[in-house]
Amino acid sequence: MRAICNVCCHHCSLEEGRTGACGARTNKGGQITASNYGRLTALALDPIEKKPLARFMPGSLILSVGSYGCSLRCPFCQNYEIASARPACMDNACGESAGRNTDRTTGSAVTSSGPGRESGATAITSSDPGQESGSSITCSGPGQESGNNKIITYKDPGPLIGKNSGGREHRLEIAEYTPQELCSLALDLRTRGNIGIAFTYNEPLVGWEFVRDTARLFHENGMKTVLVTNGMASQEILQELLPCIDAMNIDLKGFTEDYYREFVGGDLNMVKDFISAAAEGCHVEITKLIIPGKNDSESEMRRMAAWIASLRGGTGKDIPIHVSRYFPRYKWTAPATSVKTVYRLAETAREKLDYVYTGNC
Ligand code: SF4
Repeated sequence: MRAICNVCCHHCSLEEGRTGACGARTNKGGQITASNYGRLTALALDPIEKKPLARFMPGSLILSVGSYGCSLRCPFCQNYEIASARPACMDNACGESAGRNTDRTTGSAVTSSGPGRESGATAITSSDPGQESGSSITCSGPGQESGNNKIITYKDPGPLIGKNSGGREHRLEIAEYTPQELCSLALDLRTRGNIGIAFTYNEPLVGWEFVRDTARLFHENGMKTVLVTNGMASQEILQELLPCIDAMNIDLKGFTEDYYREFVGGDLNMVKDFISAAAEGCHVEITKLIIPGKNDSESEMRRMAAWIASLRGGTGKDIPIHVSRYFPRYKWTAPATSVKTVYRLAETAREKLDYVYTGNC
């Protein structure tokens, strides 16, 4: 039986057994389920500033996890190996606009890639296709290369295929974790400064059920929860998650409908609604990655900053924004954003906002 996924603006209409454009949600028995539930591709103990969060428990470390799949198709994706990876067993179009209901959406094809920031995830990788089970995942803190390896065993659910910048396929391993197992690991890591869990690296909301179940358990155990997201999800999903999320960093990749629709395959209004409601319910910081010639005008930054300041009934000027420098990655080969441009746009944002940070400079 055909089913429609309403998590994001694509509203994929999927026949039985088919997977949506994000590569992470599948029609099973007439129900849309998260096929990436509990399937991790990256795990690291990171400084919270790396998410980036500048004004939420600064100086702390947080267990950071990623899975696979993304609802956007940014050609400059910084984490494309993970975000665009697909299980090798998926022979049903693997998200390349499979089942997209273009009648109700932006009308642009989606090929799935991830958020344009926070690269450097510790991907769980293997070049040995014969490896069956048992993997070492390194949880490293600042200044540590590979200390205190956490050894886990996992059931191998089958290979995950990612593509490098040249389009060649390579294998990513998946480690299966239950929320309880992650909570137990996070509690052990408190002696090393861990405060909780961050859902990051790929787009967490394409597997929002795992975020919800895990975040609730972390709260029950007195730990913090962070979501790093592109904000392209429905209000229903957001309201389900808000009670169990303490802080978010949300991408606001551009501030024109064309940029979202034509360049990254998303919906600006859905993202704005998400940010607006999230800012009412938890600590929110915003990231804008500056792509030369695409979203680097002072007038756009001025309009964006004024909109952020208008949030929370006009008290949003204390919402932090991270203005970040782009580097060539994935399909986008234009030269890196100049540091001067990032600083200039940060100054523009400061006309309206109190906390403006520059990134990757
Ligand atoms: S979350 Fe995935 S399956 Fe659901 S509508 Fe968005 S792209 Fe399609």
